[in-house]
Amino acid sequence: MKAFIKDKIPARKLSDATKDFIVCISADYPDFSFNKGQREHWSPKSNTITFNPSQTPEHIRFGVLHELSHALLGHTTYHSDFELLKKESEAWHLASEIGLKYGVTISEDHIQNCLDTYRDWLHQRSQCPACGMHALQRDSRTYKCFNCAARWRVSSGRFVRPYRKTINK
Ligand SMILES: [Zn+2]
Ligand SMILES: [Zn+2]
Repeated sequence: MKAFIKDKIPARKLSDATKDFIVCISADYPDFSFNKGQREHWSPKSNTITFNPSQTPEHIRFGVLHELSHALLGHTTYHSDFELLKKESEAWHLASEIGLKYGVTISEDHIQNCLDTYRDWLHQRSQCPACGMHALQRDSRTYKCFNCAARWRVSSGRFVRPYRKTINK
């Protein structure tokens, strides 16, 4: 798997600081593998945290800390969009605590910006396509409008995360 990822990603040298960070965090959290990949995510199946080496050193650190936090918090699945948002928030707050150990400061602004992306997404998904009211989610894939009784399904669409794929199994 490691070799496969290595072949797919064009070689790009990590800065020494980023390399040191990955070495330190790998030593501190030996249960997890930290690998280069297409985008940041965490796989509960293989206990692997993936980061994209072409991102800025700061972005890599934030991403690794965030995905590690999902891992430490045992985030393997969620049942509603709201729960996802809550887990995102928890992961960011743990990431900023762990970050302090490595001299990485994740600002509250950065966290809120990231969460806003999820909030916007949640807002869009919860809006009734028939009357425009905001509705409550019935289950992981369905919303029902309490104003006009319309129902609609939502796809995992935009934020496909490894732990998202376990939905509806
Ligand atoms: Zn996350
Ligand atoms: Zn409606």
